[in-house]
Amino acid sequence: MIFNEFNIINNFFNIKKKKRIDVIVGIGDDCALTSIPKKKKIAITTDTLVSGIHFFENISPEDLAYKSLAVNLSDLAAVGADPAWVTLSLTLQKINKSWLERFSSFLLNKIENYGMQLIGGDISKGPLSVTCTVHGLISTKNFLSRNKACNNDLICVTGTLGDSAVGLSILKSKLSIENKKDRYWFIKKHLRPIPRIKEGTVLRYLASSGIDISDGLISDLKHILHSSNLGAIIQLDSLPFSDILIKNFNKKKSVFFALSGGEDYELCCTLSKFNFYFIRSIFLSLKTRFTCIGMVTKKFKGIRFFYKKNEVFLDYSGYDHFL
Ligand code: ADP
Ligand code: MG
Repeated sequence: MIFNEFNIINNFFNIKKKKRIDVIVGIGDDCALTSIPKKKKIAITTDTLVSGIHFFENISPEDLAYKSLAVNLSDLAAVGADPAWVTLSLTLQKINKSWLERFSSFLLNKIENYGMQLIGGDISKGPLSVTCTVHGLISTKNFLSRNKACNNDLICVTGTLGDSAVGLSILKSKLSIENKKDRYWFIKKHLRPIPRIKEGTVLRYLASSGIDISDGLISDLKHILHSSNLGAIIQLDSLPFSDILIKNFNKKKSVFFALSGGEDYELCCTLSKFNFYFIRSIFLSLKTRFTCIGMVTKKFKGIRFFYKKNEVFLDYSGYDHFL
């Protein structure tokens, strides 16, 4: 079969029988048409991954499919939305049937696992790039934004921080980890981050603000602080590290990876002390670590760091060679 745009769509992307009842028109028409439940709003986010910029040229189709969906789902998680629909814009250098088969079947299965549906997209010729746009449903009352942190709120994060940055450094050959199991574990943390969708749907009722950590904790927390016009204290001895990070790096390096390494796709949020203990008990059943790492304050702007009771002035410039 000679593949043209039409065949590609029908053979690789319009193949799922299972449909959402809110999709009135899906793949195949000029526009998709969906219905929105009363009192719900649509949360929309998009991310483009470009070959050589956001992923290595030799990435597997499965890893590429996974990441392009996961980074978008993480944005939905950050606001607390329920995933609903996806559109996909693909730019391909050439038609490679087995690559397309692997990419599309993996992507479509993941989309289905999240209860979503692929409802449209675009295919064009050019350097390999993938753009997913995901749509989620949420009520206006319980939408997590960046600008509602309050004085004295606790700052909390899900999971552990820094592992993905180590994985990226390994892939860039800027870092070597001798233990093979550890090495693959770090790489997996980079290539297959798990979007915190379930956690986001809990936090939307109980947190005052939220963001997902894509650019590194400091840089993402600053967005919350800027938008909320507040400052923060971060307790470095409270940062959540994985056992494998601790096993491979000293404290200083672990702190560096946790604070400035990106792509953990964990959630960072602010909330009252009372809600912290409540959420932690809920997250226990999801087996999700939930750690308080500091506090929001109106006393100053910016972020001040403490190790135990002592203030620490961080200067990362000396580590540049390391990443
Ligand atoms: P148009 O020329 O009207 O923009 P296309 O020929 O590009 O439409 O696409 C035909 C149909 O296939 C549309 O419904 C479109 O949303 C869908 N589609 C195109 N590319 C993809 C893709 N990569 N994944 C899913 N659906 C796609
Ligand atoms: Mg059209």
